[in-house]
Amino acid sequence: MPILTLESTCDETAAAVISADGQVLGQCVATQETLHERFGGVVPEVAARAHVERILPVIDTALTDAGVRGAELDAIAVADRPGLAGSLLVGVVAAKTLAVAWKKPLVAINHLHAHLYACQMASDVPVYPCIGLVVSGGHTSLYHCTSPLDLDYLGGTIDDAAGEAFDKVGAMLNLGFPGGPQVSRLAAQGNPKAHAYPRSMLKEPGYRFSFSGLKTAVRYSIAPPGVKDFSDIELSDQAKADVCASFQAAVVEVLVAKSVRAVKEHRCGHLIVGGGVAANPALREALQSAAEKHRFDLVIAPMNLCTDNAVMGAIALEKIRRGEFASLDLDITAGLQRGF
Ligand code: ATP
Ligand code: MG
Ligand code: FE
Repeated sequence: MPILTLESTCDETAAAVISADGQVLGQCVATQETLHERFGGVVPEVAARAHVERILPVIDTALTDAGVRGAELDAIAVADRPGLAGSLLVGVVAAKTLAVAWKKPLVAINHLHAHLYACQMASDVPVYPCIGLVVSGGHTSLYHCTSPLDLDYLGGTIDDAAGEAFDKVGAMLNLGFPGGPQVSRLAAQGNPKAHAYPRSMLKEPGYRFSFSGLKTAVRYSIAPPGVKDFSDIELSDQAKADVCASFQAAVVEVLVAKSVRAVKEHRCGHLIVGGGVAANPALREALQSAAEKHRFDLVIAPMNLCTDNAVMGAIALEKIRRGEFASLDLDITAGLQRGF
């Protein structure tokens, strides 16, 4: 029988119906981008209220799409960590309520493990064991994954996440929110060598990343010190494209280098990559070239499963196979997940 998966960790409200053998029967994602755009970032309180409004229609749409009734479900799964507290609460409370009403078991999903599981959804063969790279709005982390549910944290960012840096650069260039997709689009027309931005921690052993210095370097290349309001800065389209291309090249270089290092040091022939930034075409291309050059198998999450969605919640099937269910007093674990 199918399961229902819910996702509300940040600013996407999503639900999916997945069959016991992993087929997507129905799904729905409601984004909140337009709500947060005028603030230049996700406002937690606004996000939580929007989730409350959307969660039931989104669940309804996914179930209707699938032609499945609540009574026909096997389990209700929900991402309970990590994320914004108010956002997580809406999904978890909805899941618990439906679990009680429909008398179904509850399954808790780790959102970052789910981002990586999106790669398994795209592959006919098992992608685990592997090295996993999560590059998203809140995280930049490398894991050694022995299974979808057994992940050893190797290292990650000590400050900004890669996606956050993309968004901040987008904001400095007045490209709207979220800036990642816009920066990536403009970068395609720019010169990646126009600015020599830093590749922080590239030569340092281990798997730590840092993007805040890069962000600052971009900031000073756009406007002189003292300028606080970037809406007054006038750059030509080409100048903006050059900043985007050079910034993107710096991010891509460190992400690829550390991922390759992890694959080699762990003598692991497989790399999987998930999270919103995995949608970046330059990163996808550079990872592909590295996989050919260093001869490892690469699976990047499909474009439609990079940013937040509930389809990747199919990882709940792995938990069900292990008999790992959550109790009805399931609570959220908010904040960022660094170091584990
Ligand atoms: P987390 O998963 O860490 O909790 P999140 O769920 O908010 O954070 P995702 O939805 O996985 O993050 O990804 C959103 C991020 O991906 C944003 O920062 C966005 O700018 C970035 N992003 C999306 N598309 C692209 C792209 N083409 N190039 C670069 N960044 C992108
Ligand atoms: Mg989002
Ligand atoms: Fe995410």
